[in-house]
Amino acid sequence: MKTKRFCPWCGRPLYKSNQKEFDFQCYNCDKDFPKTEVLRKTDLPEVKALRHRSYLDDLWRGEYPHSHRKPYPKRRKNYVRIKPQGQKYTEHTLIKLNGSYHYDHGIRQSDVDMANAYVRMIESSRSDKQPRNGDMIRLTTKHGDYYPCAHLEKLYEDGFSVCERPYIPFIFPHPTKNGISCSTSGGAWLSVPPKALKYVGKEEKFFKDWGACGARGNGAVSFKAEVSVWEYTEPDPVYDDYTTKDWRKIHLSKDVTTTKPEYLYYGNGIAFRTQQELDEYMALFHGKLYTVYWPNSFELWCYFEQNVKIPIDKWKSLDLPRTTFRAKPGHPVKIEIDDVKHIITLYTFYN
Ligand SMILES: [Zn+2]
Repeated sequence: MKTKRFCPWCGRPLYKSNQKEFDFQCYNCDKDFPKTEVLRKTDLPEVKALRHRSYLDDLWRGEYPHSHRKPYPKRRKNYVRIKPQGQKYTEHTLIKLNGSYHYDHGIRQSDVDMANAYVRMIESSRSDKQPRNGDMIRLTTKHGDYYPCAHLEKLYEDGFSVCERPYIPFIFPHPTKNGISCSTSGGAWLSVPPKALKYVGKEEKFFKDWGACGARGNGAVSFKAEVSVWEYTEPDPVYDDYTTKDWRKIHLSKDVTTTKPEYLYYGNGIAFRTQQELDEYMALFHGKLYTVYWPNSFELWCYFEQNVKIPIDKWKSLDLPRTTFRAKPGHPVKIEIDDVKHIITLYTFYN
């Protein structure tokens, strides 16, 4: 039934709630409210401001904006609301995740209640249609760097603010469909255009907030909640289809300071004395060399190298071919090539 009350999150008109302990319900936010929390006709300026913000948010997040003057359409009869786990953590299970905090301050019941409240807040606000604050992104940059656990901080007017390598995000409640706001350290940051994210599933992720002692050294309590996972690949790749998800990326510099350098190419824990050494390595490791913007700098994409030392009896019974690569007199090497995972394993032995 339509009412003359408005949603305190999105400003849309509310329906009567079908839940006993609540009075009103917003189909847009998928949330029930008691009558003390909702807005009335006298709050119209606030309602209009909320509508404006929520309209832009929906638009940017890629959801078709339904009129904000009408209540959101009723859910289908068979619609099941996401029911997050009621009490995910006990003192015992939360201590396991917060060993040093427990040692310094001691996990209390109020920390457990906080963690459980956050888990409910996060898990009940997730969606497979709209990305929400705190979601996870499988990010591939245009330089081919793959970050499986990139973090979606919030939506700005030019897009989602995303962190490639985040620390555990600090969170606080945000009374909107997002459930939470994040304050995250880490780097680097980039902006991802709205509507470019593809839903790929769900995964557990760590969050934290100050524990019972408040803000102080080692005073944050961490917990895990399930979030939506999205995929994003930056357009215009610099290195074709090469990404660090499946390939090794080595930055090489060329020494042109002398005519006879000790190492002609060097970088990332690898060095080549001569052009021939590099060419041989590239032939064996399926390498491709790209020149980059800076002079005498290169990016080498190739298979991963794994070196394994095993007892001599085991080595003798290995059904693998021998190679002269990295072999020295008296120290033969057997080679295994994995073309699926792009790994070359070199086996040597000890007595
Ligand atoms: Zn609402």
